[in-house]
Amino acid sequence: MTISHKPRKRFGQNFLVDQQIIDQIVSAIGANSNDNLIEIGPGTGAITKHLVKLCPKMSLIELDRDLIEILKNNFIDLQDLKISNMDALKTDFSQFYDGRKLRLVGNLPYNISTPLLFHLLTVGHLIQDMHFMLQREVVDRMNAIPGEKSYGRLSVMIQYNCRVMPLIPVPPESFSPAPKVQSAVVRLKPYSQKPFIASDEILLSTIVKLCFQQRRKTLRNCLRPYDSYSSSIGQVIDLTSRPEELSIRDFVDITNIINQLKDKDL
Ligand code: SAH
Repeated sequence: MTISHKPRKRFGQNFLVDQQIIDQIVSAIGANSNDNLIEIGPGTGAITKHLVKLCPKMSLIELDRDLIEILKNNFIDLQDLKISNMDALKTDFSQFYDGRKLRLVGNLPYNISTPLLFHLLTVGHLIQDMHFMLQREVVDRMNAIPGEKSYGRLSVMIQYNCRVMPLIPVPPESFSPAPKVQSAVVRLKPYSQKPFIASDEILLSTIVKLCFQQRRKTLRNCLRPYDSYSSSIGQVIDLTSRPEELSIRDFVDITNIINQLKDKDL
């Protein structure tokens, strides 16, 4: 029996009702019984009920206590399914690592998607892949290349860590209630070996943030706080360029130059 549930806006609840899209998501994930599969925000279980057939020992993380009751009721016969009432933003995902890397899936609440992605990147080395439904605009930002309007902090930080594969465009009518925006499913695969490695990843994220806070300014202006390193940076990267023109590699180079010289200063 399915108990009815009135969607809550504050939990970003837009439930998938389009069976064709659900099937496409399940097939894109390609789960099997050996996977360390975790669904974030399962709702009433629209995707879960298919995934659990392929991977009975999967875990669910759901914030809404009312939905926890519904999930427990809907999946009462499935002894191996682990259902947790937790906030994904505050969850320490390393607790799920058991020698098998995590496979994360979720039709994410759009209001938490960016902070959640940054939270997950901190344990990227423990993650095999992620399949998330997001606002299409967010997927475009993740996948943008230098020079594109949507290229920014999210593009650089996600692409530094992961391969980004946009998979399925999803229209508003596929959800109930229908969101105002277009959506898309994206696959993110954290690199086991990153193409470019920053010697200090916190510094990388500080520099990227600093640059995109003032994306119209020149690199020289953005990097004012690091003025004493600008002549060395200028040997590698044109200081009159704008942050939106710089590649991931450029940001990594800037970080490594500053980090190396900073150590010498000590
Ligand atoms: N997967 C379901 C529901 C998607 S709606 C479907 O596709 O139909 C988003 C879900 O995320 C809701 O169930 C909502 O309660 C849950 N949620 C919202 N914020 C959350 C958080 N911080 N941590 C975990 N789950 C959250």
